[in-house]
Amino acid sequence: MCQAGGRGGPPRPRPLAVNISTPGATGPTSCRVRDFDIILAGGGLAAGLIAMRLADVRPGISVAIIDGGERIGGDHIWSRFDSDLRGPQLKWTQELYAHRWQDGYDVRFPAYSRTLSTPYASVRSERLDAAVRARLPAEAIITGRRIDAVTPTLVRMDGGDVLQAGAVIDCRGQRSSPHLKLAWQKFVGLELETARPHGITRPVIMDARVDQLDGYRFVYVLPFSETGLLVEDTYYSDGPDLSEQQVLARVRDYVAGMGLGDVTEGRTESGVLPIALDGDIEAYWAEDDVPKAGMAAALFNPITGYSFADAVATADMVKSLSRVDAAPLYRSLRDHSVSTWKERGFYRLLNRMMFEAATPQGRYRTLQHFYRMDEDLVERFYAAQSTAADKARILSGKPPVSLPKAVGVLSRSIPKISWRPRWRAREEE
Ligand SMILES: Cc1cc2nc3c(=O)[nH]c(=O)nc-3n(C[C@H](O)[C@H](O)[C@H](O)COP(=O)(O)OP(=O)(O)OC[C@H]3O[C@@H](n4cnc5c(N)ncnc54)[C@H](O)[C@@H]3O)c2cc1C
Repeated sequence: MCQAGGRGGPPRPRPLAVNISTPGATGPTSCRVRDFDIILAGGGLAAGLIAMRLADVRPGISVAIIDGGERIGGDHIWSRFDSDLRGPQLKWTQELYAHRWQDGYDVRFPAYSRTLSTPYASVRSERLDAAVRARLPAEAIITGRRIDAVTPTLVRMDGGDVLQAGAVIDCRGQRSSPHLKLAWQKFVGLELETARPHGITRPVIMDARVDQLDGYRFVYVLPFSETGLLVEDTYYSDGPDLSEQQVLARVRDYVAGMGLGDVTEGRTESGVLPIALDGDIEAYWAEDDVPKAGMAAALFNPITGYSFADAVATADMVKSLSRVDAAPLYRSLRDHSVSTWKERGFYRLLNRMMFEAATPQGRYRTLQHFYRMDEDLVERFYAAQSTAADKARILSGKPPVSLPKAVGVLSRSIPKISWRPRWRAREEE
């Protein structure tokens, strides 16, 4: 008796994204027994959080997680403001935080510096890996296996092994699409140990007093301990190319200017994150019929490319669903992603202002202008929860970009107006 293959199927009749067949079987795998209720294809941030949340709240749902690396979450540090999450989310994620800063953070611009009081915290992937392993049975955590193909109910791994589920969620991270118009936040970070206490007590989220190169450039500093630091050189750029060695050399120059004395270099990290300018989110989801979460679902903050808060919210959403077979799960994840994307048009407009109405060297002025605003407004902005009054406040006053270009961006952003008279529309009906 067929258990799950093809059951439910995609939300509308569409071909499977790939054609998977079981080695040794004569036909497609529609009569295999379901191995798990949900398979998370790709074991990064989004998958790890969904696995944690389901295990805690819906232990009756069997979940497997498959990743090409050896550790769930890879080798990552994910940071966020306390104000990005709601109270219960702060609570259920608390075991993940390796570093917390209760005294807020600093920003530094050529015109001024400021300390804001919002607490900040960082997750290390070791903690995510431990949290998932503490919850899932060992046989449900499959690492070191490359995924070759997924459908809404099947995952094929290297070597041809196929697993079947009531639903597969594609959590394989960011992917390119002709339907998303993006700019990039690129960075290279270096962890350091100083020989004596460095004296930095708060994160420096942006130090923009550096040469403005390749777009908006700033340095980001996280003091992990009295002698431990992460120093990251970051660029808001038009293109995704990143010369890691060149940027690492700039990190070292910045560190040399910090007057830290002897330092020992540790791990490096680099990223090229999407900054959303525009897009057709419905067309993006129509590219295939597999449920998606995390960056694969285009669930990231349009201004920063960060996805931690969205991944937490998605895990909460998945754990609350009454039906987790492929078709309803696809619809729920798609609707969540589409509505989230549509709610965030204002931030994409601001990105277009920054990228299209400011010169690359002048982009820093938009942030310098923004960070003079109220702290509550700044918090809501990074949580993508700006109110109508916040939006009016952000757009009011003399813009820190070219006025004619800003007007051009705005006019291109106004939805096309139909000039067809109402009576004609009625006649045509
Ligand atoms: C260096 C860096 C720092 C970042 N810092 C922050 C931050 O501080 N705060 C924040 O909110 N966001 C941050 N981000 C952005 C974003 O949150 C991360 O990229 C986040 O990891 C995305 O989560 P995800 O689950 O969508 O994808 P990922 O975490 O990238 O997970 C995808 C997983 O899928 C696996 N995978 C992919 N393809 C296959 C395959 N074919 N077979 C098997 N496995 C596969 C990968 O190994 C990976 O583990 C950062 C990104 C980077 C790159």
